[in-house]
Amino acid sequence: MNKKHMYINGKWVPAVDGNTRTIINPFNQEEIAEVPEGNETDTQLAIDAAREAFDNGEWRHTSATERGKLVSKIAELIERDHQELAELETLDSGKTLTESLDDMSDIAEVFRYYGGLADKDGGEVIESPLPDSKSKVVREPVGVCGQITPWNYPLLQASWKLAPALAAGNTLVIKPSEITPLTTIKVMELIEEAGIPNGVANLVLGQGSKTGQLLAESTSVDLISFTGGIETGRKIMTAASGNFKKIALELGGKNPNIVFEDADFETAVDQALNAVFFHAGQVCSAGARLLIQDSIHDEFVQALVERTKQIKLGNGFDPSTQSGPLISKEHREKVENYVAIGINEGANLLTGGKRPEAEELQSGFFYEPTIFTDCDTSMRIVQEETFGPLLTIERFSNEEKAVELANDSKYGLAGAVWTKDIRKAERLSGKLRMGTVWINDFHPYFAQAPWGGYKSSGIGRELGRQGLEEYTEVKHVYENTNPAPLHWF
Ligand code: NDP
Repeated sequence: MNKKHMYINGKWVPAVDGNTRTIINPFNQEEIAEVPEGNETDTQLAIDAAREAFDNGEWRHTSATERGKLVSKIAELIERDHQELAELETLDSGKTLTESLDDMSDIAEVFRYYGGLADKDGGEVIESPLPDSKSKVVREPVGVCGQITPWNYPLLQASWKLAPALAAGNTLVIKPSEITPLTTIKVMELIEEAGIPNGVANLVLGQGSKTGQLLAESTSVDLISFTGGIETGRKIMTAASGNFKKIALELGGKNPNIVFEDADFETAVDQALNAVFFHAGQVCSAGARLLIQDSIHDEFVQALVERTKQIKLGNGFDPSTQSGPLISKEHREKVENYVAIGINEGANLLTGGKRPEAEELQSGFFYEPTIFTDCDTSMRIVQEETFGPLLTIERFSNEEKAVELANDSKYGLAGAVWTKDIRKAERLSGKLRMGTVWINDFHPYFAQAPWGGYKSSGIGRELGRQGLEEYTEVKHVYENTNPAPLHWF
């Protein structure tokens, strides 16, 4: 079997106590790799390496232009190896190869964007109100960054953290999800090949409750950036308070997709399916709450159900597959539990709600795309992130009601509005309390635009200029150009 190691201080190492974990393909449960199962000892070694590289190494003093070149070099290497990376991602996560290939293009773009941005903010000179003085504001790296990523977009989420942290001159320890580490391991090989100095970028593997928890707690870590679920986010925020480290939390979402009667019907149906069932719904920005205006509700639901029944589940490597399996046995059980909750709450199950029967899908963690109607905001299946192929449908009478329903959520990550009335869409975009509003589209994101949530969907932003700023401290440097005694004392 393919044996992998952790990357600490420029060396590929096993776990100190020799423990390992077997990685499986969620499509058929085949064993695909063996990786170290690190713990607090391994994590401490990685933190020490990053601390030493930040405090006494050259990286943070390397010019921003030079750092940018190295980050851009990583983008080139990702492009060179994109097929291998995409295949690894599909093997490890079950997503379709087409999607993994798209992810790799986006990931290369993220490194290229931050490589280019590294030397674009040289700070600013400000007009000092005091006589004989100069004043400037500069940005500096924060220090040692802990980075914790989830299993649904393993390398994409890692790229949103690695690229800006390196571009800004930080050192880091990254901990991917223990079940999907393979592409992050491969990208560390590319980071090494690009010539990033030893100790600057470190990789630990192992359970989040040991490795991730220490990253969040350690007073040697200056910033923690986490993408994952809301309960883990709460633990990290508490742990990070020990030394008041900077925190960036990208938590979940329960994202409303609002369809008005004047929307382009065919497009809205098609994209509503994509919004929720893409990657089996395991997407933080999934359009898992569909809000349909009364007058088109029945016709829209009928069209959705017909199309949903035709979604082809299968092996991500088969080009005809439209959706792969869920990530794990435990995660499928979580989705099944939510379906039972929905039925108990009185929602109307229209399609799905069970495991598929096809023989060839029995070894994987498959679940049928599922639709509930007659949902309302008192229901847990409407309020909680189910993170699977599960769509809830609510109905609304007018614009005010649509906004009220959409905002009736603890989350505020993203949402969409479908209408041909652009003024109405823009009015709504100002009223929806979420980090991203799409108008007549769903899911677009790119390196240039910030991504993150309002309310319990998180703190801070990734991507865009804002994503780089998260990895910097702001310093004011004041110079008295004509110093003289004050004669105060
Ligand atoms: P989890 O919150 O369970 O895990 C995320 C990461 O945190 C994993 O690497 C995990 O380690 C680690 N972790 C677990 N416990 C701790 C701890 N006590 N201290 C530090 N780290 C810990 O999320 P999932 O992996 O299950 O991912 C799905 C969740 O992520 C969904 O809820 C989804 O909404 C959210 N998400 C949000 C995104 C956004 O942009 N807002 C994007 C993608 C996902 P391990 O599992 O290896 O033990």
